[in-house]
Amino acid sequence: MGVIERYRDRIPVIGPNTPNLTLGEGSTPLVRARRLGETLGVELWFKFEGMNPTASFKDRGMVVAVAKALEAGVDGIICASTGNTAASAAAYGAAAGLTTVVLTPTGQIAAAKGAQARAVGARVLEVRGSFDEALQSCRELADRGVFALVNSVNPDRIEGQKTAAFEINEALGSVPHVLALPYGGGGNTVAYCKGFTEEGVKPRILQGEATARATTLATAIRIAEPAHQHEIDDLDAQGWLERVSLSDEEIAHAWHEIANNEGLFCEPSSAAGFAALKHAELEKGSTVVCVLTGHGLKDTSRVDAMAAPSRLVDADADSILAEAMRP
Ligand SMILES: *Cc1c(COP(=O)(O)O)cnc(C)c1O
Repeated sequence: MGVIERYRDRIPVIGPNTPNLTLGEGSTPLVRARRLGETLGVELWFKFEGMNPTASFKDRGMVVAVAKALEAGVDGIICASTGNTAASAAAYGAAAGLTTVVLTPTGQIAAAKGAQARAVGARVLEVRGSFDEALQSCRELADRGVFALVNSVNPDRIEGQKTAAFEINEALGSVPHVLALPYGGGGNTVAYCKGFTEEGVKPRILQGEATARATTLATAIRIAEPAHQHEIDDLDAQGWLERVSLSDEEIAHAWHEIANNEGLFCEPSSAAGFAALKHAELEKGSTVVCVLTGHGLKDTSRVDAMAAPSRLVDADADSILAEAMRP
C-alpha cells in the first residue's frame, strides 16, 4: 500500500478526485543498529528511506505532489534538483503520464541519479548556474502556469513526507526521544515536525548540516540557501531543533561507521544525522532514530575515497588465503 492509500485520512489535500498514484513508496524498514547503539549507550534505529522506489525519501512527498498536479490538469511538472528530487519527479511523472522537466546545476548531479531521471524519460536540462538559480527559474515557469512545481516548496510534498514520522511512532509503539537527520533545504525537517505535531508529540530533533554548504562532498545537501530557512528558524525558536555543523571528514567517517558496523549502505549525505548525534548529549538507554535519507547506490563515486580498494590476487588458494587474512 502506498502513501496515498495508507494515509488518505491524515493528508487533507487528498480528496475523492485525487488519483491513487503509487510506486509502492513508504512503509520503509526501521532497522535496529545494535553495534553502533552500544557504542553510544542508546537504543539506536535507522529509518532506511533508501528503500523507497527511487531510493530516497523524496518519493513520499513526490507521490502526493504529482497526484495533485494530475488532478489539477497541468501538462507537466518541473523541479530543480541536485539529484534525488529529479529521480523521484521523473519516476512519478512517467507513471502519471506527465512531461517532466528537471533542472540541475551543471556537473553537480551524481551519475546514477541523472541516469534514473533519463531512464524514465525526463527532460534533464543542465543549467549554467547554481541550484538556487535553477530553483528561481522553476518558480518563474510555475507562476506562468505551464508546469506544476514539485520542489519541496510545494506544500503537497510536505504533506506526503510527514508520514515518515507516523511510521516511526507506529513501528516503535512510542515516540523516539531523539530524531536525527540531515539538513539540506529543510523540507524533510519541516515535514517531520509537522508529522510529530499532528501526533501530539515533540521529540528532540538533531539536524546535521555541512559546514561547507556550497561545496560539501555530500551532494544531496549541497545547498547554499535552504529553501525552508524561515520555517527552520521558526521551529528553532519554538525549541524543536538542535543544529549541528559538520565537516566533510565527520560526514565521511559517520558514513563509514554505518556501513561497516550495521551493513547499511547509504549515500554520504544520509550519514549527516548520525554524525550530528556525536555532538549531542544523549541520555543512556534513550530511543534514538536516525533517518538514512537515500541509498548508497545513488552516489558510488565517493566509495573509492571513503572505503578500502579491492586487491589483486593470483587465482590459487594459498595466495587468496594469504591476501584474505591481511587486514
Ligand atoms: C533531499 C535530500 C536531503 C536533504 O533534505 P532536505 O529536505 O532538503 O533538508 C538529504 N539527503 C538526501 C539523500 C536527500 O535526497
